[in-house]
Amino acid sequence: MECIFCKIVNKKLPSEIVYEDDEILAFKDINPKAPVHILIVPKKHIRSMNELKKEDKDLIGSLFLIAKSMAEKTEINKTGYKLCFNVGKGAGQMVDHLHLHLLGGWTEGITKHNI
Ligand code: AMP
Ligand code: ZN
Repeated sequence: MECIFCKIVNKKLPSEIVYEDDEILAFKDINPKAPVHILIVPKKHIRSMNELKKEDKDLIGSLFLIAKSMAEKTEINKTGYKLCFNVGKGAGQMVDHLHLHLLGGWTEGITKHNI
């Protein structure tokens, strides 16, 4: 059975897509924890960082470069942002399909935010 992010990748579930290429999809988090909260997701189903393989090296690099580009597009690069992988239930991973959280856009000047 496809996981929820595989369904989003395969357009069987709607999402607010902000970036797409052959390998990666980025979309807005449905329950944002920051004014800007984007999830950057490999189209390939990888359960978590724990399952990452050496062959995924370029893919993981691309996730970060797309995050950087999304930070520029949304201009949160000017005010600051966080990049986060939750790995495993104990760290709050709810969806077992690798995803990089891009969070930012705070205006109140607080520098500590958890997700
Ligand atoms: P994590 O807790 O690291 O697994 O993050 C999962 C994230 O996916 C949470 O921030 C959720 O709000 C988000 N999420 C869950 N379902 C959807 C969905 N259908 N569309 C967009 N974001 C979602
Ligand atoms: Zn999946």
